[in-house]
Amino acid sequence: MEVIAETVSVLDAGGVLTTFYAIVFGILGLIFGSFATAVAYRVPRDEPVSRGRSKCPNCGNTITAIQNIPVFSYAVLRGRCKHCGVRISIRYPLIELITGLLFAATALRFGLTLEAPIYAGFLWALVVLTVIDLEYKLLPNKIVLPTFLAGWAALIVAAVVGNDPSRLLDAALGAAVFGGFFLLVGSIYPAGMGGGDVKLAFVLGTFLGYLGSFGLALVGMFLSFLSGGIVGSVILARSGGDRKTQVPFGPFLALGTVLAIFAGQRLLDAYLGTF
Ligand SMILES: [Zn+2]
Repeated sequence: MEVIAETVSVLDAGGVLTTFYAIVFGILGLIFGSFATAVAYRVPRDEPVSRGRSKCPNCGNTITAIQNIPVFSYAVLRGRCKHCGVRISIRYPLIELITGLLFAATALRFGLTLEAPIYAGFLWALVVLTVIDLEYKLLPNKIVLPTFLAGWAALIVAAVVGNDPSRLLDAALGAAVFGGFFLLVGSIYPAGMGGGDVKLAFVLGTFLGYLGSFGLALVGMFLSFLSGGIVGSVILARSGGDRKTQVPFGPFLALGTVLAIFAGQRLLDAYLGTF
């Protein structure tokens, strides 16, 4: 693995290969983003994920492969169904685009490592969970649990291949800090913290801990509460202070974690450097 990485860095003097690598990941991200919208639609409805081609929810016509090219088809069809002309939600191309950007960013952040596809898969799961939580205010076990188990299996392999098993201890520390804190809050104040949030926190702590031990897990937690607090108070103010307005926390957990993965270490260094 290291030999390959070194050879690539020699060949890649002008950054051409890096750019190509990021573009390949970005295109994969667009395709997986399209798959994410299908999973986010089917899992909460208890439909099998592999149920064949997508159908227009209005006229029931099958969406053919050519009409299902991420972002591109939406632009060509001007956001309408080819058969009945019903407007297709902007969220489909938006989710595809966000997943594409996340995958490209992952390629740049992790380079030619096993961690690159692992973290791309993790971010894909976060996209699915965010979409579901925004719509249904729930984080299904069907997605959180496999992400946790597959995540640990993949990170164990990556740590062994990278000859750095101490990172697994860091992952466990991250999970204990992030998940443990949410478990504590959830048991003191069950109305404010859903069980899905607590379970997801253990997953997030694992992936952040692997990268930067409990310090990065703390940064992810902090950014989640910060973004959730800001957006939550804006929504609360707009709804005239009606405290019954429920704001799902999953999307902010995902946002805080994404920010921590890509900028957390720099934030931590800058913060610690102020002392
Ligand atoms: Zn239609």
